[in-house]
Order: sequence, then C-alpha cells, then structure tokens
Amino acid sequence: MKTASKEGRLGLIKKRVKKSKAIKANSMILDRIREKNASKAKAKSNGHAPKKGKATKTTKSEAPKFERARLVDKDLKKKYPQVILGTLGYDKAHHKQTVTIACVDCKKKRDVFTSDLFQVTRCVECTAERRQERRREARKARQE
Ligand SMILES: [Zn+2]
Repeated sequence: MKTASKEGRLGLIKKRVKKSKAIKANSMILDRIREKNASKAKAKSNGHAPKKGKATKTTKSEAPKFERARLVDKDLKKKYPQVILGTLGYDKAHHKQTVTIACVDCKKKRDVFTSDLFQVTRCVECTAERRQERRREARKARQE
C-alpha cells in the first residue's frame, strides 16, 4: 500500500497549507476590524462627524471634467464634406486635433483645427476673396 500512504501524506500537507492560509486570512480580518474600531474611537473622541454638505462640495470640484472623445475622420466627413479622409493629426502645442480640408471653391488643401471645421470651408485666398465680395455687396446694398 505504497500509493495510499503517499496520498495520505499529500493530503496532510494540503490540509496544513489550507489551515495556515485560513489562519492568515483570519488574522487579516481581525486586523481590519481592529483598525475600524480604532478609527471609530478616534472619530468619537474628536467629536467630529463628517459634514455632509462639505463632502458633496469637494466631490463636485474634484469631479473629472468632461473629456471629449477623439474624433474619427469618417464622422467628421459626414458633418463637414470639405474634410479629406486620413488626414487627422494632433497639434501638441495647441492640444488640438488637426485635419486637412479641400477648399470648396478651388480644391486647394488647407490644414485646420477640427474645432474650426464648422466655420472653415475654404482656403485662405478664397476666404479673403469671399470676404471682399461680401463687403462689396454690402456697400452696394447701402448705396441703393
Ligand atoms: Zn480656395
């Protein structure tokens, strides 16, 4: 019965390991309970109960600010047809995302911040031209 005795010994070792682990866990729990009681006693002796109003205030100011999700050029293209796909970049100096657009008038390329896309559809030259045109029209309208 060699195998049986071997198994028996293994079983004993396993049991011992289990026991020691259990003791460790127990002592950890005890430590935690002791800590809890100590902190409770401290709070009682100080007579300070945590103020509710103050707590909510601090959590409000410490709440993480809403972070904008990184933009995907396909979504940008849907909203702003002047966007050229695959040109998304990041400007480290300004902490802004950039993208290349094609001027809606002359198709010339221009790099812009994605945050400016809503108001930029043309290259610098065409924007200036357009502005002049508008001024001319406004002048004309005033004269009439
Ligand atoms: Zn242009």
